[in-house]
Amino acid sequence: MIDKIKDNDKKYIMNTYGRYDALFVSGEGATLTDDTGKKYIDFSSGIGVSSLGYGNAAIAEAVGNQASVLCHVSNLFYTKPMVEVARKLCSNTGFARVFFGNSGAEANECAIKLARKYSFDKYGKDRNTIITLVQSFHGRTVTTLSATGQDDFHKYFFPFTGSFRNAVANDAESLTAAVDDSVCAIMLEAIQGEGGVIPLAAEFVSEIYKIAAKHDILVIFDEVQTGIGRTGKLFGYQHFDGTPDIVTMAKGLGGGLPIGACMCNEKLKDVLRPGDHGSTFGGNPVSCAAANVVMDTITKQAFLAAVTEKGDYIKAKLSKANIPSVEAVKGWGLMVGIKLSKKDAKVVVKKCLEKGLVVLTAKGNVVRLLPPLVISYDELNRGLGILINVLEEED
Ligand SMILES: *Cc1c(COP(=O)(O)O)cnc(C)c1O
Repeated sequence: MIDKIKDNDKKYIMNTYGRYDALFVSGEGATLTDDTGKKYIDFSSGIGVSSLGYGNAAIAEAVGNQASVLCHVSNLFYTKPMVEVARKLCSNTGFARVFFGNSGAEANECAIKLARKYSFDKYGKDRNTIITLVQSFHGRTVTTLSATGQDDFHKYFFPFTGSFRNAVANDAESLTAAVDDSVCAIMLEAIQGEGGVIPLAAEFVSEIYKIAAKHDILVIFDEVQTGIGRTGKLFGYQHFDGTPDIVTMAKGLGGGLPIGACMCNEKLKDVLRPGDHGSTFGGNPVSCAAANVVMDTITKQAFLAAVTEKGDYIKAKLSKANIPSVEAVKGWGLMVGIKLSKKDAKVVVKKCLEKGLVVLTAKGNVVRLLPPLVISYDELNRGLGILINVLEEED
């Protein structure tokens, strides 16, 4: 079957992805099955999305029920699933308001517009610069590409959106140097995901909050990858002292369905007014039905503690194996980066796939693990067995 699908993919799909040679047809828990019946342990969750695993009965039921009564009516009307997700997000964090879109990039677009409008209302139109970090990743729209602090992404699509400037992660001096009267916000990931699984240092984050408070600069955490339980806390910012003004999320929120959200505090709750922003599909009832299941599940007692334990288990196993090609293991909870020397992360990913394990890469020769949060220890052990074998293999 895969050959025919591959041919048609090449023929009809824009050539934007270098796909691996696998055609998945179903899954259960953290195990995927391809068209030949071969099983794979999944340490990727479809890039941090399928947080409650595959074939989740509660998600299937909620989505099925919602789809059978109402898929969509637009944001001209009230819908219950959306309000419920927003209420759960706010009551679990202390944030005040939520805007829903369909992806991480859209969540960040909302954050950028919100920050600029806040500054416009208070200081006029020239205070609009947003500081982002080198090696960050914020999305694929023209504006979120502009925000992304990697030169590789700043090609072809000129002109990019202006007024973004970069500081170096975990370098307070570089941050201070980037701040002037034109800055309205600082946007950052708690752990740089695509950029190499690089957690921010606590001292750096406290410096950010200090500078931000002094100059009325808004702090935006892009939690598209780190949010919704991925790091063992509901949001990555909770690993640090202090609270941001804006938090964005997407990937894990819908447990496999497309949804993104931008959440703000009291200070910002009335900045955007009718007509300032919108999304046709944003807060769609079917996606929100799934997001409600995700929120209910991960806010149950002990769920997040288990995520932390599993992450520690992975790190302990890797460290015990004492693998020569592993230079460092980074990350929190079930967001783990394995920095390699001697071996090529891309080759490791391919070899793992052949042996029945799905893993990801990140920048800087890093193998990135984002398993479903519900992965079992049996699946963890089998996946780690394959991974350690591949990493220990003589080339
Ligand atoms: C994946 C990701 C995005 C982009 O999300 P999309 O849903 O692909 O638009 C933005 N920020 C971070 C930190 C991400 O990991």
